[in-house]
Amino acid sequence: MSRRDWQVPVLTYHASTVGGPDYAGNDHVAFASDLATATRLGWRIVPLQWVVEQRLGLADRDLHRCLALSCDDGTVLDVRDVDYPGHGPQASFLGALQAQAGQPDRHLTCFVIASPEARQRMDRDCLHGLGWMDEDWWAPALAGGRIGIGNHSWDHNHPVMAGEGPPDLVRGDFHVIDSDARADHQIRQAADYLAARLGQGTCRLFAYPYGHAPDFLVRDWFPRQGAALGLQAAFGTQGGAVGPDSDPWHVPRYVCGLHWSSPQQFEALLAGLD
Ligand SMILES: [Zn+2]
Repeated sequence: MSRRDWQVPVLTYHASTVGGPDYAGNDHVAFASDLATATRLGWRIVPLQWVVEQRLGLADRDLHRCLALSCDDGTVLDVRDVDYPGHGPQASFLGALQAQAGQPDRHLTCFVIASPEARQRMDRDCLHGLGWMDEDWWAPALAGGRIGIGNHSWDHNHPVMAGEGPPDLVRGDFHVIDSDARADHQIRQAADYLAARLGQGTCRLFAYPYGHAPDFLVRDWFPRQGAALGLQAAFGTQGGAVGPDSDPWHVPRYVCGLHWSSPQQFEALLAGLD
């Protein structure tokens, strides 16, 4: 494959997916297994930022047999081992990543939800009220060098925030973010918050909640406003590898549990891109 024809799969996990001890239904088990598989098969883990720089022509690296890692929704389970109620000890994504000593460029981008109020409500209503969606881990994780923090919107337009925010906003869907006011509320507000907490220019990547990428954002708002917010790319969940023709405002990702659910399927996914 020539360098012009590069393609890189971006894998997506959710640390809150803990449904049992098995690969299917536990993203911690899947993540550790997939990293071991990728390493065994000679795939190289690279930062998601490298994939974006390649697509934008800001870098020209050899990305043959490379993959990038991301995880969505931002809980402390991304970086810290926890005892999960009912399911016992869960190894963090960061721990599994650090264990892959043969991968010098290994890196994981965590797409986090900015609003403290939304995180508090989700932690209470959707998790176990143990403070897992606090933001105290963001800065130390960044400083450790193996983690990037990305923008996963202000409040995920999540149903826990029903009645808050712009009037008449239907929750539980990101396709409804179809106006300047709604985009400012969900994306600009999050970008400003993350920049204030972590530094200007730190969070350059966005991931669409629910994988919903409204035409308004992809074709209109991001091309107009993205650069001014320091954003370089926005990621969906539509499957497929990133390549020279990917839309920077709707970059594809593969999602664990959606596009593959077993070590065999993961190996087949990689083999299909080789
Ligand atoms: Zn999400």
